[in-house]
Amino acid sequence: VMAETLLKVAGLQAWYGESHILHGVDFEIRRGELVTLLGRNGAGKTTTLRSIMGILGKRTGSIAFEGRETTGMTSDHIARLGIAYCPEERGIFSSLNVDENLRLPPVVKPGGLSIEEIYKLFPNLLERRYSQGTKLSGGEQQMLAIGRILRTGATLLLLDEPTEGLAPVIVQRIGEIIRQLKSRGFTILLVEQNFHFAATVADRHYVMEDGRVIDTVASSDVQQSIGKLQSYLGV
Ligand code: ATP
Repeated sequence: VMAETLLKVAGLQAWYGESHILHGVDFEIRRGELVTLLGRNGAGKTTTLRSIMGILGKRTGSIAFEGRETTGMTSDHIARLGIAYCPEERGIFSSLNVDENLRLPPVVKPGGLSIEEIYKLFPNLLERRYSQGTKLSGGEQQMLAIGRILRTGATLLLLDEPTEGLAPVIVQRIGEIIRQLKSRGFTILLVEQNFHFAATVADRHYVMEDGRVIDTVASSDVQQSIGKLQSYLGV
């Protein structure tokens, strides 16, 4: 039995000022799925996440979360429905310590992880509990950025290139965490450049090019589709 559709994006267009970036993005995610958006630099992946989160000037088309249209909503209304965004730049407050950073985002829905559960998932963060944001390594900052949104009660996590700039051993650790989050029932939309990493964690991949989704590949078909994927991604 297939799970219900949690998020359905249809004909999504988006602009930064006068620049028309998304030209009709279509895809959907079922509850509990882990899906990636793949594509070259500038394809519109980050813009798609920002559009879903409502933190972008102008967008048209349809974004339905649990069947509810969200394109007219403000970002904090969207957050309260249970969507959380972990940006590529991570957004750690350098003047706050790990514990303070973790407690920062408001809890919007019941069902989020407790601080103790988050520390159990990220033992390094527990060790660094009273360290300032600036003192953390890139991997620790990324774990903090992910950990922070788990408390909010969001059920859909939008993760923007969590492996960017990290050492292979840390990338592997982030992969394990993402798989654990999926097994806890979170639905995850992951933007990735690293397609080898994406293939190890995701159920399905959507390929973006020039502001559109141009193809979809199931992880079970990645091996047969490798040539096609490499040409899309220019690798
Ligand atoms: P990347 O991995 O480089 O982030 P991406 O697929 O996520 O790639 P986007 O960040 O969504 O791509 O960018 C899509 C297009 O929008 C690019 O041409 C980019 O230059 C442009 N763009 C991104 N942010 C802005 C902005 N704040 N103002 C104007 N144009 C922008």
